[in-house]
Amino acid sequence: MCAQTDPEAFFPEKGGSTREAKKVCQTCEVRAECLESALMNDERFGIWGGLSERERRKLKKRAV
Ligand code: SF4
Repeated sequence: MCAQTDPEAFFPEKGGSTREAKKVCQTCEVRAECLESALMNDERFGIWGGLSERERRKLKKRAV
């Protein structure tokens, strides 16, 4: 999780926009690692590696 950026962008309210956080992730150098660790740790909230929690859930299902 990007502590340097706006936490509100990375932990949007329910139904809030995740676009800002994803934009930051697009250019992030550790995006792959970030996503992987989020999946490993079963992170439930916020944007990780450019994916919202719902998108990560989908990804996980597909990987199983
Ligand atoms: S990929 Fe992870 S570390 Fe990089 S900007 Fe996104 S949330 Fe932050």
